[in-house]
Amino acid sequence: MTNNIYFIANWKMYGSTLSLNSLKKLKNLSKSKKYNNAKIIYFPPFTLIQNFVDKFKNTKISVGGQNCHEVEDYGSFTGSISPKMLKDLGCKYVILGHSENRITGETDDDINKKIHSALNKNLKVIFCIGETLKEKRKNITFSVLRRQINKGFKKIKNYKNILIAYEPVWSIGTGVIPKDKELEFNVSKIKKMILKKTKSKLPVLYGGSVNNKNISRLKNIRGIKGFLIGSASQNSKKFIDIIKKTIN
Ligand code: PEP
Repeated sequence: MTNNIYFIANWKMYGSTLSLNSLKKLKNLSKSKKYNNAKIIYFPPFTLIQNFVDKFKNTKISVGGQNCHEVEDYGSFTGSISPKMLKDLGCKYVILGHSENRITGETDDDINKKIHSALNKNLKVIFCIGETLKEKRKNITFSVLRRQINKGFKKIKNYKNILIAYEPVWSIGTGVIPKDKELEFNVSKIKKMILKKTKSKLPVLYGGSVNNKNISRLKNIRGIKGFLIGSASQNSKKFIDIIKKTIN
């Protein structure tokens, strides 16, 4: 594993062409030697992917899709985007298994098919896992995570293009983050589950209400290789602050 630290900016269904003006400072930051090991990856809405790819041309910042269809190439699937289409636009990554998609009916099997297709098209996958508040209260966090990992990775042969984002669902968009000990423990359990299933050591990122205040705490949690950042990434100032506070 490299010593890269990942900063994933998930813009969800936010942003317009005007938002591009705020990205200049990030481009500059990515050129600085000090932030050489910061792997910055933007996930704009589909409508802005081409603009982002153009904006970050000749920089180290990558762009990805927030989801994709399980069919690799083309098909009669109104409103959907395939891995081939993401690749064609210049995307290097795709987020799969995000809880905001699981909640609207995406199953572990759907996600598994999407992972296969994305990898076949040479996209790197950010695979999201995480327990809901109800599952946490029922004390079934680890069986939920184990199920998501085992089903999501069914028949996957090569794991070199996969990163894990551990995102407790109760932490996404709520301003609540897990206690340090709890997060450290959960991440170490996840690593063991992944090693058992994949025989590989995959980078594990944390996501859920990361901001420029709590980052000073979160960056000290052992075993975390970066962060998936939703709302705070839509504000370039806050996003830059997060990167600077992590790598200082
Ligand atoms: C997310 O989009 O997965 C996320 C973690 O969002 P937020 O940072 O807003 O909680």
